[in-house]
Amino acid sequence: MPRIAILDQDSCQPKRCSLECHRYCPGVRTGDDTVVIDERTGRPTIFEELCTGCGICVHKCPFRAISIINLPQELEGRRIHRYGPNRFALYELPIPRAGKVMGLVGQNGTGKTTALEILAGRLGPNLGSREAAPPKVLNEFFKGSELQAYFARIGRVKTAYKPQAIDGLPKVVRGEVGALLAKADERGASRELSEALGLSEVLDRNVKLLSGGELQRLAIAATAVREADIYYFDEPSSHLDVYQRLNAARVIRGLAEAGKAVLVVEHDLAMLDYMCDYVHVLYGKPRAYGVVSSPRGVRVGINVFLDGYLREENVRFRRESIRFEVRPPSKARVAGRAMFSYPKLKKRFKGFELEVTPGSVYVGEVVGVVGPNAIGKTTFVRMLAGELKPTVGRLGFKLAVAHKSQYLKIEFGGTVEAWLRELIGEFGPSFDPEILQPLEVRPLLERRLEELSGGELQRIAIAACLGQPADIYLIDEPSAYLDVEQRLSTARVIRRVIERREAAAFVVDHDMLSVDFVSDRLLVFTGEPSQVGKTQGPLGMREGMNMFLREVGVTFRRDPQTGRPRANKPGSGLDREQKERGEYFYLG
Ligand code: SF4
Ligand code: SF4
Repeated sequence: MPRIAILDQDSCQPKRCSLECHRYCPGVRTGDDTVVIDERTGRPTIFEELCTGCGICVHKCPFRAISIINLPQELEGRRIHRYGPNRFALYELPIPRAGKVMGLVGQNGTGKTTALEILAGRLGPNLGSREAAPPKVLNEFFKGSELQAYFARIGRVKTAYKPQAIDGLPKVVRGEVGALLAKADERGASRELSEALGLSEVLDRNVKLLSGGELQRLAIAATAVREADIYYFDEPSSHLDVYQRLNAARVIRGLAEAGKAVLVVEHDLAMLDYMCDYVHVLYGKPRAYGVVSSPRGVRVGINVFLDGYLREENVRFRRESIRFEVRPPSKARVAGRAMFSYPKLKKRFKGFELEVTPGSVYVGEVVGVVGPNAIGKTTFVRMLAGELKPTVGRLGFKLAVAHKSQYLKIEFGGTVEAWLRELIGEFGPSFDPEILQPLEVRPLLERRLEELSGGELQRIAIAACLGQPADIYLIDEPSAYLDVEQRLSTARVIRRVIERREAAAFVVDHDMLSVDFVSDRLLVFTGEPSQVGKTQGPLGMREGMNMFLREVGVTFRRDPQTGRPRANKPGSGLDREQKERGEYFYLG
């Protein structure tokens, strides 16, 4: 059975331990070099060929920095890349196919971006050794598979790549949007794609003045205007609202319809479903190893991912399957105990007005907030939080409010634990089991804030918000940067905390599955982005989803196996039928 030993470089702290991994290893005690301590760094290297897998070092290490993993026998000899001894390893690769959109879905840290970088020719696969493998070795390795021809041509395959992180784009490209797109345009498509992605109005804007959503759309357009054989899109929906996600999905599908091969990494399952033909599931242990499954049709692939079991490979990669249910309203809401009501409000900025119609929120209720970007959702949230004063109307209640902002800029020069303690004081008895553990914040407590990734910052920001005692929790875009499992466990944590504390929450989100999973009712924002916004509701889920999705122009049905909402293909029989009946979000 193949075995790998992984050392989490962020957790290993040789200056703060007694090198227990070395001291207690039975191999070392009998004179072997199973664990060798580097003289310069003080960190251990575990020699996998000598390690018996006893697991003693795993339990003895005070910082839980070591994982010893026994892999399925079938993975023997299937290692594609390793970042070095005791570091992350990737097994198998996705397969690009001409005229098809192939999706990749899986937990963060299981190698999706590594796989894309290899296929895009930006990272030479080393098959587990120290050096990138030469073409002859790769040819032998992939012999008989669809990837053999791919690697034979890899120097000549033209690829276009949209990276995951786009926030740093203004540091590497300079100039105005229109000029940049014109320069990248090899297909004569920049005008068409600017319109399709809603960039026409920012063509003369400098890149450094763009919002996150505008940068994302520019990055998608700049990739799609290139002439390439294979297009790679790494998380194209981050920072986009539902309208923009659908437009991006149509642009991506358009490339496949023009005969190109397209590979997409995406955590928004509704979007993945909407744009892909096939799906590869990635499973493994985050930051330790990842395995790319064989491709499956998009419906089956997403269901397999939710089920946590790959039948053909006979691999269970998650203990529980994920199910979506049509929930009854929370008990507190049935009892109808109002938490607070707000009157008609208005907020005006230069060139923008938000009108808030009167509404009430019940005890124990989670209200999902949906609508396009720049329509006033954050303004509404900030008025409730007391951060903005309404121009017309007054909020008379005195309720304690905890707010998680959409932006994750946390300036604090210390550890996560120190930051949490400064914000919420002593941790109460339920904080750890109810919030820190399910949000996977516990392993981050010793880390410094400036070292954290977007997903890690998101989880600690949610924990900090929910850790504060409050009557109303305002949680703005909790699913950004999180993978599917983290999104759903976050939704569960929010619901549990709100119900148990008899509080109420507004959750702003663009991921339809997360909205469906977390909300009791919906507050819908309509209007014209950047000009005028108006709230409708809170409405029941069915009414709210119908109103919202009618505006977006997309219909959903439920998958009979998992209960998850699936976007209907535009113009399909179901799409037309549901639109005629006015049932955009089929709840049956
Ligand atoms: S792995 Fe654990 S025991 Fe070993 S040096 Fe690192 S922190 Fe210390
Ligand atoms: S698993 Fe056992 S044999 Fe392997 S390095 Fe750890 S203590 Fe040594």
